[in-house]
Amino acid sequence: MADAEEPETKRRRIEDPTEKMAVDSAHQDSACDWRGRWSHVRKFLERSGPFTHPDFEPSTESLQFLLDTCKILVIGAGGLGCELLKNLALSGFRLIHVVDMDTIDLSNLNRQFLFRLKDVGRPKADVAADFINHRVPGCQVVPHFNKIQDFDTSFYKQFHIIVCGLDSIIARRWMNGMLISILSYEDGVLDPSSIIPLIDGGTEGFKGNARVILPGMTACIDCTLELYPPQINFPMCTIASMPRLPEHCVEYGRMIQWPKEKPFGDNALDGDNPEHIQWVFAKAQERADQFSITGVTYRLAQGVVKRIIPAVASTNAVIAAICATEVFKIASSAYIPLNNYLVFNDVDGLYTYTFEAERKENCSACSQVPQDLLFPPSAKLQEILEYLTENSSLQMKSPAITTTLAGKNKTLYLQSVKSIEERTRPNLCKTLKELGLSDGQELAVADITTPQTVIFKLNFTP
Ligand SMILES: [Zn+2]
Repeated sequence: MADAEEPETKRRRIEDPTEKMAVDSAHQDSACDWRGRWSHVRKFLERSGPFTHPDFEPSTESLQFLLDTCKILVIGAGGLGCELLKNLALSGFRLIHVVDMDTIDLSNLNRQFLFRLKDVGRPKADVAADFINHRVPGCQVVPHFNKIQDFDTSFYKQFHIIVCGLDSIIARRWMNGMLISILSYEDGVLDPSSIIPLIDGGTEGFKGNARVILPGMTACIDCTLELYPPQINFPMCTIASMPRLPEHCVEYGRMIQWPKEKPFGDNALDGDNPEHIQWVFAKAQERADQFSITGVTYRLAQGVVKRIIPAVASTNAVIAAICATEVFKIASSAYIPLNNYLVFNDVDGLYTYTFEAERKENCSACSQVPQDLLFPPSAKLQEILEYLTENSSLQMKSPAITTTLAGKNKTLYLQSVKSIEERTRPNLCKTLKELGLSDGQELAVADITTPQTVIFKLNFTP
């Protein structure tokens, strides 16, 4: 766990009147701790039991640490975030920051229970923090209406534990990379005090997962990147000839009949156009009838066309509860944390399973092993670009490739700035040899999936 700041400085910082949402500076005395307030938590921290950690000494200090010192960062104030904030606040954590870049949408209100109709349009982080601070006396949630990329290492280093409730793999990977960049090594040995544990929760419909990551020690997000399929697509042969699911019928209408029949001329299928969806729905219904498939509805058609994965409140509740429990276990050191990857599925009955995800020896994020690029000198830069984006353990999004040639930095390809993209685009068709690259050359690759530049070593193959 990262070195805690002195409690004194920490308190002074939080009492700073410029700090938004710092509502109650008297939290550290027991003004708001009525009798029995923490009796539920004390049962776990002030006595031992069959599941307590072998080194755990029951005492009253753990609770004081949670209440006064332990600083938690929650990333995301959406479906998982609302649950996490509520769970953490009610478990005794009072120094909580929350980062979310979104504003509240009407469609969030069915499950993001810290928000009300009057809050639509306001930043999620602000409203969530406000709600918790008013509802849970002594709790000081500090909101940040920001992207995670707006902050640097000094911001993230102040926390003891970080919990992610994100719906984006890119953001997860970036956060993972940030915590890895904070690690310090002495003579190749990891300094354990530089580790900030990352608890990551994710849900998709009725499926979810929760994991505990000790950066530099246990499997990180990028170690298990192969587990995230790049895109959920049905095989074309299934759609074309052996549909089994209502979704296959909708895909038939969308992918095969729409381009062939052009019902609205050359217009592309628009998921927000009810006439378009109606057309696809009717086609899907026809197809479903032919193959005796039931379950095609307008809503389903729209969901498939727009690739909507419905958010399920109960899945969020389960995953957030698991994540908050892990935060509690790690913060108190009273129980052995989850080791280290839990999957949950209640599509059909209820299934859960925990396994130990293993570190990948040459993980591009956490291994410190130089990454090799094996290409012949006759390969084109385009092939390297494709490798970086398509390789299942890299899955970069828009990599920018630079190198040093004759002592000068040279950008080989960069996508995100239009003028540079245009200027460097011709390089894509050039071979590595033509670009002047040599065997053993280092290529620095920057991408939105990581805050750090990844160094690749070019190894020429025959
Ligand atoms: Zn890794």
